[in-house]
Order: sequence, then C-alpha cells, then structure tokens
Amino acid sequence: MIGRLDPNHREVTVIGAGISGLLVAYTLKKRGFKVRVFDSASRAGGLIETRTTAFGPAETAAHSLMVNPDVSAFFSELGIELEAVHPESKARFIYRNGKMRRFPLTFLETLRTIWRFFSKPAHPIDPTRATLAEWARAHLGEPVLKNLLAPFVTGVYAATPEELRLATAFPSLVPSDPRRSLFWNFLEARRKPGPKKTRPKMMTPKGGMESVILRLQAVLGPDLVLNQPIQELPEVPNLVVCVPPPELARLIQKHDPASASALRSVSSSPLVTVTAFAKGTDFRNGPPKGVGVLIPRNEGLRILGVLFNSSSFSGRVLHPGTVSMTVMLGGTTDPGALRLGDEEITGLIVQELGLLLGFQGNLLHREITRWDSAIPLYSGTLDGVRGLLSKGFFSKQGRILFTNYSKEVSIRGMIDTLRLLS
Ligand SMILES: Cc1cc2nc3c(=O)[nH]c(=O)nc-3n(C[C@H](O)[C@H](O)[C@H](O)COP(=O)(O)OP(=O)(O)OC[C@H]3O[C@@H](n4cnc5c(N)ncnc54)[C@H](O)[C@@H]3O)c2cc1C
Repeated sequence: MIGRLDPNHREVTVIGAGISGLLVAYTLKKRGFKVRVFDSASRAGGLIETRTTAFGPAETAAHSLMVNPDVSAFFSELGIELEAVHPESKARFIYRNGKMRRFPLTFLETLRTIWRFFSKPAHPIDPTRATLAEWARAHLGEPVLKNLLAPFVTGVYAATPEELRLATAFPSLVPSDPRRSLFWNFLEARRKPGPKKTRPKMMTPKGGMESVILRLQAVLGPDLVLNQPIQELPEVPNLVVCVPPPELARLIQKHDPASASALRSVSSSPLVTVTAFAKGTDFRNGPPKGVGVLIPRNEGLRILGVLFNSSSFSGRVLHPGTVSMTVMLGGTTDPGALRLGDEEITGLIVQELGLLLGFQGNLLHREITRWDSAIPLYSGTLDGVRGLLSKGFFSKQGRILFTNYSKEVSIRGMIDTLRLLS
C-alpha cells in the first residue's frame, strides 16, 4: 500500500472493484467510513471469476490462498468457510529428468547445497538491488536455483528468478549481512523480537473464489457501482485507487506525468490458464494425487505447471470418477502461448499431460483463459516506480494506492497489508 488517508474526513472513494478494491472498501466500511466503490466492468472481481461448467467450477485466476491466523479470522468474520488441502493430497512435485519428484535434487547436489547454506558466499550480493537469481547463486547454488526456485517462481509470478528483485518480491529473504552464510542470517532473523510467524496453510473458499467477491459485494450493497468507468480522478478528500498499472498511468497523467511515464514500463507476465476435466481412468497410473507439479524450463515442456484441483479440494468435479486440473502455459519465457488457438492448446495439453501424468485419453472439457497481463513483475523497475508514486501523486494525504503491485501480489498479502491502513 502506498499513501495514507486523511483522518479528518470519513468518506472514501474507491476506484476498481477487483479483489483489492473490494477488500479495502470492506475494511474501511467496517471501520465506520462512508465508502463508494466504482468499477468500469459489469461485474465485480476483476481477474477473479469462478465459471460454472457442466463438469465443475473453473477458476480464471486465483484458485486458493495461503491462510495464516489473521487471514482465517478475516474470512470467518466475513462468513466465508475455507477448506484446507485434503490431508492425503499434500504432496507437491517438481518434474525433473522425465519424472515427477517430491525432492528434485540429487544426493550430491543436496550435500553441496547444505555446505553452501552454512558457508560465507564467495561473492556477496547487494541486498537492495540483487535479483532472486543472484541471491540463490550466492547462497544456495545453481541446482537449487534451476530445479527448486525457478519452478516455484514460475508458479507464483509466471516469470524467472532473473526478472525479480529479491527485496521487492521476497523481502523476508533479504540477508541482514550478505557477507555471512544463509544459516547465520536465518538465525539472526529468528532472534529479532516480534510475533512468531506461523506457517500459512493452503486453503480455498468452499464456494469458489467468486463466493468471496459476491460476499464482499453483498456487504457493500448500493455503495458498489458497476458499469462506471472513471475517466478523471475525482477531487475528493479520500481516494483509494485499485486499478492495473496502465490504467493508473492514464488516470494520473496530468497530475504526475513522471510517475505515469514510469508506470508504463512496469511489465506483467502473460499467462494462459486452462481448467481441464478428464476421466480418472484415462491416467495410466490412476488419477493424479497431490497439490500439483511445476516444470523447470529446461525439461523441454511448454506446460509451466499443473494444479490437481480435484485431488486437493472437494467440490471441484460434479461427476464421480472425473478429474479437474488447472494447467498453466505462457509466462515471460513463452509469450507466444497466448497466440495459440483453442485446439492447439488442447492438443498440446493432451500430449504433455501424457508425458507428465500418463494421460492417454481426450479431455472431457476445458475452459481457457488468456491473460495478456496476468501478474505484475516484482522487479527493480517496479521498485523505482513505487518510489516515484510515493513521492509524487500518492504523497498527498488522502490518496492511497492499494493493488496487487503496490506491496503484495497474493490475496493473503493484501489482507495482511490492510492492517497498515491508516
Ligand atoms: C492466473 C492467475 C492465478 C492466480 N492465482 C493466485 C492464487 O492462487 N492465490 C492468490 O492469492 N493470488 C493469485 N493470483 C493473483 C490474484 O488473483 C491477483 O493479484 C488479484 O486478483 C488482482 O486483483 P486486483 O484487484 O489488484 O486487480 P484486478 O483484478 O485487475 O482488478 C482491477 C479492477 O479495476 C477495474 N478498473 C480498471 N480501470 C478502471 C477505471 N478507469 N474505472 C473503474 N474501474 C476500473 C477493473 O474493471 C477491475 O475490476 C493469480 C493471478 C492470476 C492471473
């Protein structure tokens, strides 16, 4: 979040009713503010939508969230029931050398990684400017970078560790003393006073992600106005802006041209998501079990990752014996995937699911969503833009930027950040 409210006024105008706009509007309404939210679209939710198909629900964007005690309290107050991943389906896989593995490093690579973890780096990084890749090379080595970190980053940002700035994307990993080992830095971080963090759990709203949108929409009632594109920023005492970078650039152009121009250089990853339904009997070794699989780019597949929806959560398929998966394609390393036609995507998925999961049939149904700009890249460029915005347009009291690029990309992160709202 960038900026702060003007406490002398109790009215707030929110622009954008994606999840970020709805969350901030709900929180302010609860705190007694008079809130009005405007969105240009005919429905609220922005990227998030749960489509209904004859085989089960299909999420277009977020399909789950990481839940800590604060997030859990937030949802129970909202009256939304969350479901955890089935206890017997918690395995996460990485594909390496043609096989799905729970731990993708060899014995020798593991020994070398442990040694590096306890050693001082040969070339210490600059913690404020280093990319995630530079940090990993300095402290953990190439095998961890390629086989663990890179697929994980693909799963969250659809980008590579080279494109992300450590301090922007993973601030908790920034070493306090980059000349020392990672082990020393972790111990140092644990010694710092403050509440102990509990490990968040992967959960999903029982009624799908859209149930959260509908609930927030119901609480806001007539204070949420749809089909209302904002062309000019209104002169109001408190303004919260929750729109994507190009739209913010347009809106602040005449107020803060320097930030507007910098915002146009913020990039987002392109992504295709496909919710695919199949018969369980069409998998050679039985239906996939676990949370999902991520695929490093050097494995020669175009699929970035697959989430095993019906294995992780209930209610993901309407017919017994069928399987629901979410397949991701594209990302910054394969933007051409967005130009593939529906049949090409289907053919590619069927072929690669065969290699990954022993799939040997046809899909019963697939829902394809193409995002030109799916997830903002938490890069050095974004860092610079945030600095400009906080000194520029959002330096004036009564103006806030609350979006998936102002601090946190995930819904858990957004809810955590709302505590800072003042
Ligand atoms: C494929 C995919 C998978 C994801 N998976 C997860 C996940 O599993 N867990 C997780 O936590 N996160 C996930 N995310 C991230 C998360 O879904 C997004 O960060 C979040 O939905 C973004 O919400 P937002 O409100 O910031 O932006 P948006 O959803 O883009 O909302 C912006 C809103 O502003 C409106 N708007 C734009 N211009 C104007 C204007 N001029 N006037 C009025 N309204 C305007 C738009 O209509 C839109 O409704 C995923 C994202 C993608 C793309």
